[in-house]
Amino acid sequence: MGKENSILILGSGTSTGIPIPRCSCSTCTSSNPKDHRFRTSLLLQTAQGSNILIDTTPDLRSQVLINQVEKIDGVVITHDHADHIHGIDDLRPFCFGPPLHPIPLWTSQHNAKTIISRFPYIFPQLLSEPPPQQLGGGIPLIELHQIELKPERPVKSTILGEKFWHLPIPHGPYGESMASIHGAFAYLTDISHINPATVNYLKSLKLDLLIIDCVRDRPHPTHLDVPTAFKYIQKIAPRRAGLIHMNHDLDHDQLTKRAQQVDGVEVFPTYDGQILKY
Ligand SMILES: [Zn+2]
Ligand SMILES: [Zn+2]
Repeated sequence: MGKENSILILGSGTSTGIPIPRCSCSTCTSSNPKDHRFRTSLLLQTAQGSNILIDTTPDLRSQVLINQVEKIDGVVITHDHADHIHGIDDLRPFCFGPPLHPIPLWTSQHNAKTIISRFPYIFPQLLSEPPPQQLGGGIPLIELHQIELKPERPVKSTILGEKFWHLPIPHGPYGESMASIHGAFAYLTDISHINPATVNYLKSLKLDLLIIDCVRDRPHPTHLDVPTAFKYIQKIAPRRAGLIHMNHDLDHDQLTKRAQQVDGVEVFPTYDGQILKY
């Protein structure tokens, strides 16, 4: 057997991160390090030795320092919310080398548009009216690759020589998040509903590992709640399922116990620094 692919959870928390500043609830004041959650992101380390970062959170700098990430060969962006892209500037140390080199970034056409409009100083060459040149500090060098997503149909991309499949999944009534599948791993963060065709497709993959949104107990307008995440996990039937994007209503140890009661699948809350192989 060859080397395995591996996932490093860089952040497992919702958009505020946990602890939430000024909150004194039991999760935010917990002494369990697994209740400390940076904004949701992961590093995929392929069996071939490439490091692919999924999402550039506002915690990116701390995440790469704590986990001693030495290189980022490519980036995938799931969607354009602040908690998933506002750390994009912290890619700078990874492109400055030496030698200076651009980092390729893959995302949907919709997300690419937002990224360019929100960070115009990074993409002067793509704009008809480039903003004044950024002086001091420099800009991350990003080579943008746009993926043309199709509703309910996975599309293929080749990222650093690796085959990926992507499909859009609703993230609330107005948004969508780009799900990615690599081998027997599927990543579905920031989703609120999975339509039956996508559930069937994911089930047909016989996944080894699914990482899926699970924000809190009560229903949420743009995320999966715990019972709904469990329901989809049972339908998709991977071997293992990790929960991600949790808020402070969810205590790691309590959620671990509840997740163990899901029939037929090994379910667990992910935590920052966790390594999972597939
Ligand atoms: Zn998010
Ligand atoms: Zn989001």
